[in-house]
Amino acid sequence: MAKQRINVLLVEDNPVYSRLIQKLLTRSEHQDFKVSMAGTLESAIERLGVGSFDVVLLDLMLPDSAALDTFYRLRAHDMRTPIIIQSAMDDVGLASKAVEGGAEDYLLKDGISSATLTRSIHYAIERTNARGAEWSSSMLHLAQQQFLKAAYIAGLDPNIRQRLLFPERTQIAALPFKRDGVDQVETVFAYRVQHVLTMGPTKGGLRYHPEVSLGEVAALSMWMTWKCALMKLPFGGAKGGVRVDPNTLSKDELERLTRRYTSEFIGMIGPDKDIPAPDMGTDAQIMAWIMDTYSEHVGYSVPSVVTGKPVVLGGSLGRHEATGRGLAYLVGETCRLIGLDTDRATAVVQGFGNVGMHAATFLSEMGVRIIGISDVSVALHNPNGLPIDKLKDYVRQNRQLFGCPYGEIIPGRDLLELHCDILAPCALQNQITAENSLRINCRIVAEGANGPTTLEADDMLDARGIIVLPDILTNAGGVVVSYFEWVQGLQNLTWPLKEINNRMRDVLTDALARTQRRAQAEKVDLRTAAMIEALSRVGAASHLRGLFP
Ligand code: NAP
Repeated sequence: MAKQRINVLLVEDNPVYSRLIQKLLTRSEHQDFKVSMAGTLESAIERLGVGSFDVVLLDLMLPDSAALDTFYRLRAHDMRTPIIIQSAMDDVGLASKAVEGGAEDYLLKDGISSATLTRSIHYAIERTNARGAEWSSSMLHLAQQQFLKAAYIAGLDPNIRQRLLFPERTQIAALPFKRDGVDQVETVFAYRVQHVLTMGPTKGGLRYHPEVSLGEVAALSMWMTWKCALMKLPFGGAKGGVRVDPNTLSKDELERLTRRYTSEFIGMIGPDKDIPAPDMGTDAQIMAWIMDTYSEHVGYSVPSVVTGKPVVLGGSLGRHEATGRGLAYLVGETCRLIGLDTDRATAVVQGFGNVGMHAATFLSEMGVRIIGISDVSVALHNPNGLPIDKLKDYVRQNRQLFGCPYGEIIPGRDLLELHCDILAPCALQNQITAENSLRINCRIVAEGANGPTTLEADDMLDARGIIVLPDILTNAGGVVVSYFEWVQGLQNLTWPLKEINNRMRDVLTDALARTQRRAQAEKVDLRTAAMIEALSRVGAASHLRGLFP
């Protein structure tokens, strides 16, 4: 079979190293590399302008440019070609910053081999190609950059690192379902993604949202892997999604859609395979339909195929409110550690769905004054404190907060910038960014949502001494109690609520303590520390199981 030709632009001013790279590439048995050379940034930009390259190998220290400037200037001229940083041992920090800024990978010059070099090039090109269409997602990009940052610091085995950058299994379906009353069949895209199969069955929510894509579901499945590993649960990460706005569907339409989703993905899910749970736009009723459809298919009742189902069908006490309750536990623990009295503290909560509503409820039960809250329809501000129970009654009757008389209406974008002690983004991803992070005015960011803070914003908040309690820790209460639900289901037992809450608190506070110890030992922020803690577990499990065959 003919070898595939790969055009490499090597930007390097050291002739000895340039010769070494050329030698290593020509040794490759599987690929044919054509290497072009540039000794300065200016000549590299020129060559990129006229030639067609598959990948750039870039030394950051050149005669006419130094450090990150080199990467950003080259990137500004060419947004698409993947860039792999060539780094000396003492420039590792710089190289990992370039990776955070969008470079595909970095390689240490010391100890470079033909295998590491060709593999890194191969994956850099694959990842760039894969970013088209369905995979193109700012969330997946964020999840991958967070992972790469932690993997470098943790010294994760490069074989495992490449494997974990993308999910192990994905399935896409074009789902047809009947609309009410009219002779019309709607077809929507649906996904189920399993990121890691090493740790046990996979576990993850099912999201109904009009902007769901494969990339988004993949990112969420990655975060589930880290969350389960950080909590020491025997699961790998998974996630599902349907690209649909559930608010536009009747209950009957939702039921038909959900049953069809279950039957399309029936080969992937199961109590020992992959266990869905509620996420954005789905709830206990939807889990009940999944359970019923699955049970009909196999011929007997299988409650453990889902978690977050109604209690009467084997759901766990405390699961519905677990994510918000867990967030409140961790905020309480953090307040205790930094000497912030919760009776005097204020909080702003973005989102008034499952996570936001319960987070606000339990924070206010701890004495925290909730001065701002929002949903899609409106953002409300009341410096004297919003009456959460009355807001819940209002939403029960009117579905959304719009028209609720207990606070002043403010623009949604201003909500996150209100002065408060605790800011809890509990709605969407990408809410705290480089654009608004300097205006974030709180002491603690408690991430109820998945992926609400970008990597750049993370650094900016860290530099200002704002504590970010990362999503994989802060919103893990849901999956912890889902695990309890699964265990209770398998054993046909029901645990009392008090026991469930106490066990959840123990699991979460243990994970917080381990994360804090890691953060101090590695001198990194809490997110990176939590990721390293999780990665070390997944890495160890992968090594112990080995690779089949
Ligand atoms: P949910 O019940 O569907 O609630 C989402 C909330 O966010 C709703 O109040 C929605 O408003 C609001 N929202 C949507 N877009 C908004 C915007 N642009 N501005 C302000 N509010 C907005 O979903 P959820 O289960 O609470 O999930 C929220 C987040 O938590 C997601 O990132 C999810 O992945 C994460 N999470 C959930 C769980 C869980 O157990 N449910 C566990 C871990 C993580 P409307 O009601 O008006 O549409």
